[in-house]
Amino acid sequence: MPFEIDFEDPRIGFASAHFIIGHDKCGRLHGHNYFIKVKISGDINEQHMVLDYGLLKAELKKLVEPLDHKVLLPAKAEGIQIEEKEDSVEVITCDKRYLLPVEDVVHLPIPATTAEELAKYFHQKLQKIWSKFVIRVTIEEAPGASATYTE
Ligand SMILES: [Zn+2]
Repeated sequence: MPFEIDFEDPRIGFASAHFIIGHDKCGRLHGHNYFIKVKISGDINEQHMVLDYGLLKAELKKLVEPLDHKVLLPAKAEGIQIEEKEDSVEVITCDKRYLLPVEDVVHLPIPATTAEELAKYFHQKLQKIWSKFVIRVTIEEAPGASATYTE
C-alpha cells in the first residue's frame, strides 16, 4: 500500500449525547462535538489518486448525519435494557432509567458508545464500501482526545 491520503474536515462531525454504562463520571448523560478523521492507504488509480476527496467527503457526511443531535444508544451493550414503547424509548442501565423520545435516539450496533467503538463502527461502514484499501478511522471526542481503529 504505497500511498496514503488523509482526510479531515472540521465541518464533518456530529454533536451527540451519550453515557458510558457503569463509568463513574461518564455514566451520566452528557455530550460531545465529535469529529471524524480518515486515513486511507492503497494504490493510485488511473487518475493518479488513491480516492477522490469529494467521494470520501460525501460518504462521511452520509454516515455521520444520522447521529447528529441524537442520543447514541449502544444496542449491543451488556447491562442495558432498551425498550421501545410507542413514541418513546425506555433505557434502563444498572442504576439509571431514561425515557427518551423515539426521534431523539439512534441505536448503534456496538457494545459501548466510546470513541473506540465509534471509530470501529465507522471503519466497518467505510471498509464495506472500499474493501481494497487499508482504512484508519479516528474519532475525536474532545480536542486532544481521540481513538483510532484500523485492521
Ligand atoms: Zn463522553
